Amino acid sequence: MKIVSTVNEVREQVKAWKKEGLSVGLVPTMGYLHEGHASLMKKATEQCDKVVVSIFVNPMQFGPNEDLDSYPRDLDKDAALCESIGVNLIFHPEAEEMYSPQFCSYVDMNVLTEDLCGKSRPVHFRGVCTVCNKLFNIVQPNKAFFGQKDAQQLAIIKRMVEDLNMDLEIVGCPIIREEDGLAKSSRNTYLNEEERKAALVLSQSIFLGQKMAEDGETDAKKIIAAMTEKIETEPMARIDYVKVVDGLTMQPIDVIDRPIVTAIAVYINEKARLIDNFHYSPEMQ
Ligand code: AMP
Repeated sequence: MKIVSTVNEVREQVKAWKKEGLSVGLVPTMGYLHEGHASLMKKATEQCDKVVVSIFVNPMQFGPNEDLDSYPRDLDKDAALCESIGVNLIFHPEAEEMYSPQFCSYVDMNVLTEDLCGKSRPVHFRGVCTVCNKLFNIVQPNKAFFGQKDAQQLAIIKRMVEDLNMDLEIVGCPIIREEDGLAKSSRNTYLNEEERKAALVLSQSIFLGQKMAEDGETDAKKIIAAMTEKIETEPMARIDYVKVVDGLTMQPIDVIDRPIVTAIAVYINEKARLIDNFHYSPEMQ
């Protein structure tokens, strides 16, 4: 496995693979990798001949008061995990490699970015779309792998690829959880033991809402109310949002009559803003 930091090195390697007729999978990440990322990498190794993992804490997707500087980083540990899974190349650029001082081009989107995380993180998805577009252009993968953990991000990337005729397939992968239900996240490391326990209220509320939907509740407001009440039992939790949205447009809906995503964002002790969600489709029943 190679670790490279320049666009040219990635291009050279990918060009050599493509010459041999090999398919390439890309897993974009911000590093501090855990089993959630590992599941994406494993799927990529199953579906593609060669796998590139990008590790880049993208400054463009962080707002001015967010956790860009404190975001956890550990390249050695990340590299060991990638190697153990069979990743072929890590692309680990510095910000200067990705954004020259003259940089002024962006990929922007409306509708899908307006609610949920887009509302509380106004510049976030412009940064995500722009960096993913750059990574797709640099790596030119046949497939790119994204987690349903970031449900809005996955919907946005799929939309971008379709809208802008990008020549790759986006593969969505299920949420990987800790044994007690907490969705795995690099940001869980911000929490001490007590806060980690408090964070369980996210998955508990997700499981509660999911059960209500599966039991036939079609009134989104009732599901939101029950989930909100559950989260509010935890004094360390402060809700950013609890929403039921159309699975394709990410717009809030009142009646569950189509595939939906129920998504939450919750601050724990003001230290970490964690997200979780469940997908549900009436047709699955
Ligand atoms: P990040 O490093 O947080 O930007 O995440 C990189 C990719 O890993 C994104 O596509 C995430 O959705 C995915 N991911 C992060 N956590 C999980 C998880 N617990 N389960 C599945 N995918 C995840």
